[in-house]
Amino acid sequence: MENNIYDLIIIGAGPAGMTAGVYGARAGLKVLMLEKGAPGGQMVTTFEVENYTGFEQISGPDLSMKMFEHTQKLGVKYAYGDVYGIEDHKTYKVVKTETENHQGKTVIIATGTLTRKLNVPGEEELSGRGISWCAICDGAFYRNKDVVVVGGGNSAIEEAMYLAGITNKVTIIHRRQEFRADKISQDRAKANPKIKYELDAVVESFNANNGKLGSITVKNVKTNETKDLLAEGAFLYVGQDPVTSMFKGLINLDQRGYVLANVNMETNVPGIFVAGDVRQKELRQIITATSDGAIAAQNALKFIEGMH
Ligand code: NAP
Repeated sequence: MENNIYDLIIIGAGPAGMTAGVYGARAGLKVLMLEKGAPGGQMVTTFEVENYTGFEQISGPDLSMKMFEHTQKLGVKYAYGDVYGIEDHKTYKVVKTETENHQGKTVIIATGTLTRKLNVPGEEELSGRGISWCAICDGAFYRNKDVVVVGGGNSAIEEAMYLAGITNKVTIIHRRQEFRADKISQDRAKANPKIKYELDAVVESFNANNGKLGSITVKNVKTNETKDLLAEGAFLYVGQDPVTSMFKGLINLDQRGYVLANVNMETNVPGIFVAGDVRQKELRQIITATSDGAIAAQNALKFIEGMH
């Protein structure tokens, strides 16, 4: 088995996983990076990144590709893998996927987060028929049409700005008056005449018209009044949930499912590390994900050195 055992298996190829790959490979480790989607994670569906130092402005897909190419130049092995569990055998771990099991001396969990659903009537049935979680993927379908964006965080405001450049009108539906988004983004959105607001408002239902989204019923949470907004597209940005259900029982998670770790990115299981948005932390950004990835890989190296 010694020949087939990786030094480091990274689960997830977002900015955290890819940076761990770069650091691991540069340290001479035999690295496998598994991903079930496209390399880049959430960056792939981000229109523009403006806060990753060194790049005043770069598209999410371009930054993803640059990071991926970096890992490939250094010889990180990249493979498709939908991981459903890890077994801890102390000196080695088994990372299980539907098609194959992989053995590694160390593992870094960098599975990130997935977009949250609103769980209101019409959402399921109209997803892909007007309801989307990715403006950069689907925005072009709504050229010169009216759309809504739901949420008040960075994603909602930034993607609303992107949609305002394509569509006729964007209405941001947010459940309170204050936004979580950075002030610079809020100010830009406020200065954009194509962006309107429905504040203190929640979505009651998404309504079909000829099998596609036609309108959205919103309720004002202060007055309880409801009204229908006509829109052919709805982009939902109501937050994220960590992708950790497959690690429950082995890895210590917080109440919301985020992985608990110390400053060295060590989880409760020796040899298993964590990096990126999936970790319990304050600031979830590309730059903090890459930082986590570097620290996790460095400590995976130390762990392996300590084994000998
Ligand atoms: P987020 O910051 O968690 O914001 C989610 C928004 O959805 C909040 O405004 C929240 O309202 C609202 N919301 C949550 N559940 C809801 C529900 N059931 N009904 C109605 N509204 C609901 O999520 P995000 O915007 O996806 O961002 C995720 C992380 O990535 C954040 O840490 C963010 O800073 C980061 N990010 C950063 C950038 C950047 O730096 N440029 C860009 C994108 C994302 P409340 O405010 O009332 O809770």
